[in-house]
Amino acid sequence: MAKSSPTLADQLEQFVREQAAQFGDVISYVPAPSAPATTGDALATEPAAQKVVNRLSELDAKLVAHASEAWTKATSLEILNEQIHDCTKCDLASTRKNFVFGTGSPTANVMVIGEAPGADEDEQGVPFIGRAGQLLTKMLEAIKFSRDEVFITNILKSRPPNNRDPKSDEVAACEPYLWKQIQLIQPKFILCFGRIAGQNLLKMEGAPLTKLRGVVHDYYGIPVIVTYHPAALLRNPDWKTGAWEDLQKFKAMYDASK
Ligand code: URA
Repeated sequence: MAKSSPTLADQLEQFVREQAAQFGDVISYVPAPSAPATTGDALATEPAAQKVVNRLSELDAKLVAHASEAWTKATSLEILNEQIHDCTKCDLASTRKNFVFGTGSPTANVMVIGEAPGADEDEQGVPFIGRAGQLLTKMLEAIKFSRDEVFITNILKSRPPNNRDPKSDEVAACEPYLWKQIQLIQPKFILCFGRIAGQNLLKMEGAPLTKLRGVVHDYYGIPVIVTYHPAALLRNPDWKTGAWEDLQKFKAMYDASK
């Protein structure tokens, strides 16, 4: 009997597998064949970037609670960093080597948010520069973003000892700095790496990554996609296929807003 030729779905799956397998080499972005899939979120049919304008005022309102602190008045990322890099609001101040503010463009359309600095980041004061960070850089490059054009930061700006998960009081102390960064940068999209970062950013305590992925979340009007943490991909290379699909959705959403 003649062998049936692969369906389009088979071919696409094969393509995604091949692309994902190559994180680490140069891989090129191919526009997704259809609009980004969401779970029925209105963002699937509307230009997502339009949503950013209105609801950042809710972040402004949250920052009012900290209005007595000078950093809330910072008018640039540079000034903000200057004002907060000596922060002692949580115990991590006593164990960190460096406060890891974030790096990239102050006018970035895309903000990349991870969990917390690791040992390399703590050593150098720069987010995502260890092994996982190098993979993150390649993942961004795979969808045609350079580190310089996005802004990369973390939920926590200080390293938890032995890379343990952030504690809720640490997140509560540090999160207003992220709000201020978002207020200054006004990103059109957020790409969030990892379960812990997703749970903390979106206030979805205990949510598994399966629930965080595959949906376009709404963070004060900013569309958010959550994907695997690059450290998890280093441990489980099979998950790269899913990560590549998430990145494609993110890029398709980004391109559709232009
Ligand atoms: N993991 C993170 O979540 N952030 C970093 O900056 C480095 C590793």
